[in-house]
Amino acid sequence: MSLRAGVVAVQGDVSEHAAAIRRAAGRHDRGAEVVEIRESGLVPDCDALLMPGGESTTISRLLTREGIDAEIREHVAAGKPVLATCAGLIVAAGDAKDDRVDSLGLLDVAVDRNAFGRQVDSFEAPLSVDGLDDPFPAVFIRAPAVDPESVGDDVEVLAAWDGRPVAVRQGPVVGTAFHPELTEDDRIHDLAFFEQAAAPHRDTRL
Ligand code: GLN
Repeated sequence: MSLRAGVVAVQGDVSEHAAAIRRAAGRHDRGAEVVEIRESGLVPDCDALLMPGGESTTISRLLTREGIDAEIREHVAAGKPVLATCAGLIVAAGDAKDDRVDSLGLLDVAVDRNAFGRQVDSFEAPLSVDGLDDPFPAVFIRAPAVDPESVGDDVEVLAAWDGRPVAVRQGPVVGTAFHPELTEDDRIHDLAFFEQAAAPHRDTRL
C-alpha cells in the first residue's frame, strides 16, 4: 500500500523531502504519494506529515491562519507520524522561546532558535543517532537546538551535538535540528515514517 505523505509547503526543501520519502518507501517495497500542504482539508487524508525547514515565524503564521495547526494536532493524536526538521522542529516544539512563533506543542521541549550562533551559519557533522548503525551526515543551517534542561519525561533524545539535543522523538513525532533532506541519505525519513511502524502505539494502517 502506498504511503500518502503530506509536506508542509510554505517554504523549504519540498522536492528534496519528497524524494527522500519516496526512496525510504522504496526500501520497504512501498510507493509514496506526496501531497503539498498549503491549506486545510488535506492533512486528514495523510498517513504521515513532514514539516520542513525555512523560517519558523512564517511557517507557524500560515499554519495558524489556514487552520492547519489543529489538523496537525489531530494527526498526532491519532498516532500518525510526523517528521519536523529545523524550523519545523521549532514549530513542533512546546516552547519556541519566541512570541512570534505559535508552536504546536507536539514535542515536550523548549527550543533555542539559531542555537549555534549566526556566525556559524551552517556546518555538517557526522552525527550518531539512536536507531541508526552508522553516523548520519547532518547538515545544520542556522539551526535550532533543544534546550537540554527542557526535555520532558516522554521525550527520547536520539542525538546530541555540542551537548545539546538535536534529534528527539516523542511518540509518533520525530524532530531534528538538522536538514536530513540535503544528502542522499534517507535513514531519518525511514526512521520517522517506516521504522516505527512496528511500535504498538502506531496507527495500524502504516
Ligand atoms: N533559523 C530558522 C528559524 O529560526 C530555522 C533555519 C532552518 O530551518 N534552516 O526559523
